[in-house]
Amino acid sequence: MKVDHIAIAVKSLDEATKVYSDLFGKGPDHFEEVEEQKVKTAIYYLGDVRIELLEPTSDDSPIAKFIEKRGEGLHHVAYKVDDLEAKLAELKEKGFRLIDEKPRVGAEGKLIAFVHPKSVVGVLTELTQDAKE
Ligand code: ZN
Repeated sequence: MKVDHIAIAVKSLDEATKVYSDLFGKGPDHFEEVEEQKVKTAIYYLGDVRIELLEPTSDDSPIAKFIEKRGEGLHHVAYKVDDLEAKLAELKEKGFRLIDEKPRVGAEGKLIAFVHPKSVVGVLTELTQDAKE
């Protein structure tokens, strides 16, 4: 497995990109709005890993609810796998609590699935598999 991206929940992309642009010494590489998740994101490419800042666009966004409960900060870590379906079956067998029992299609046609934070030491964990060409 490799780290694909790390997602950080923020109240304001304007404020958060100031901090992260100072930290990384460069501005965001990409902006995107994901209507289904009711978030807008600023993405930095750092080697093979993307750092995604997520700002809710609505009070009923899952990110808004997260910030309300736990404040700003680490939202999830995503790992890239070769065969998501097989990995989910393996994790289920090992007793992990899966949020998505089956892969679903995420941004850029990638397959994704989430594993419950309760079974990964408090961290919401995303597994992702690149779209097959
Ligand atoms: Zn993600």
